[in-house]
Amino acid sequence: MTDILKQIEDKDPGEKEFHQAVQEVIETVQPVLDRNPQYRQDAVLERITEPERAIMFRVPWMDDQGQVHVNRGFRIEMNSAIGPYKGGLRFHPSVNLSILKFLAFEQVFKNALTTLAMGGGKGGSDFDPKGKSDNEVMRFCQSFMSELFRHIGPNTDVPAGDIGVGAREIGYLFGMYKKLRNEFTGVLTGKSLGWGGSLIRPEATGYGSVYFAAEMLATQNETLEGKTCLVSGSGNVAQHTLEKIIELGGKVVTLSDSSGYIYDEEGIDTDKLVFVKRLKNIKRGRISEYIDKYSEVVYTEADTSLAYNPQWNHKADCAFPSATENEINAKNAANLMKNGVRLVCEGANMPCTPEAINIFLDKKIQYAPGKASNAGGVAVSGLEMAQNSMRLSWTAEEVDRRLKMIMKSIHQTCLDAASEYGEPGNYMAGANIAGFTKVVNAMLDQGLV
Ligand code: NDP
Repeated sequence: MTDILKQIEDKDPGEKEFHQAVQEVIETVQPVLDRNPQYRQDAVLERITEPERAIMFRVPWMDDQGQVHVNRGFRIEMNSAIGPYKGGLRFHPSVNLSILKFLAFEQVFKNALTTLAMGGGKGGSDFDPKGKSDNEVMRFCQSFMSELFRHIGPNTDVPAGDIGVGAREIGYLFGMYKKLRNEFTGVLTGKSLGWGGSLIRPEATGYGSVYFAAEMLATQNETLEGKTCLVSGSGNVAQHTLEKIIELGGKVVTLSDSSGYIYDEEGIDTDKLVFVKRLKNIKRGRISEYIDKYSEVVYTEADTSLAYNPQWNHKADCAFPSATENEINAKNAANLMKNGVRLVCEGANMPCTPEAINIFLDKKIQYAPGKASNAGGVAVSGLEMAQNSMRLSWTAEEVDRRLKMIMKSIHQTCLDAASEYGEPGNYMAGANIAGFTKVVNAMLDQGLV
């Protein structure tokens, strides 16, 4: 087992996020390999950790002053054993091969858990849309798509949004794809409603994460009613997590962005959420501006010199990290335990470090890994693909009903797989084992390709 990890580390040194994601899966699927000796002979670990294809390309674009810039574009087509590659595009300065390989790897198992026919992929660029004009973002998206279009298609690879890629970016990307291919197909998900998007897609990841948390609580005869929750981020996932928690009677007291976080002891209610949505989605402002309107609230600036993030050091029952990877380290995890948190549900991808996860597992609190709990977004993307193929749209109620059903089924699948392998209640083990087994069996059915 460690030999394989060492080989991967030696082959691609420096890809620490990718190594972290691979290590977690390799460790938890060990009993599956022991039970199926053929898997080792068929080198399934070596195969599943190697992308089927990794595309990297130059993205030149011109700013409003006529200055040319060059960014790097990527698409990692990780695994297509159970369907076309599917996974978001991230535009953020931190994007590199390691981050996209980790996200694509996670996506393979996540998509398998949704029960829909989707392989795994991820892509993006180190371009930073923050502070750019709409025209600059459009020119960048057009340049990005003028290369990506060769590699994607509704039956090949279907990208979506992620950090820095929302409805605006998906629109520009789709427009360029359509022009280059001269066809109107469901090649991207997260489209606007008027031209092929699905109702509930923007809400799906956050709603799905809260549905998953509600299922976890139900196993202990509890609900979200009256629970105090810490949410990080203030983008798509955070906003809709907050919205659903309010609807289910919980109270959210924090939100953040990369500059800092707010602590609103009274709770962020529906009116305040409307303000946040306008601030973040239309004005594209900073979360610090929340205190301009709600002056009794405390804003704390991010301080990377601290060993912990004070956002995770408040009294609460549940935590929903929904910003970015590795935002909860061991110190933050210890603070969560100290403050009474008994459920951590990942809205972001890999927001907890391995050391933090070990603390949750040791303390036997309920912990949901993102590949299970944030799968609602890609699940509704899968439903968007289905609607596009049929050229019809389901109602919001219908999509929400299916989303709830899928989250319930993922929750049960995790519990069943964990119990089958002697880890009852361990959602991380369950998610990895169930996703891994499904994909590996499909790969073996399809021969050595
Ligand atoms: P958005 O771009 O809408 O929001 C991201 C939020 O996280 C922003 O508030 C952003 O702040 C904050 N953030 C980003 N990077 C950092 C950082 N390094 N430190 C602190 N805060 C940071 O993205 P999403 O809400 O879509 O995605 C959030 C997470 O959820 C990501 O991990 C993503 O991969 C995951 N996810 C998203 C899905 C979706 O459907 N959108 C599906 C499944 C998972 P700022 O504005 O300052 O950058």
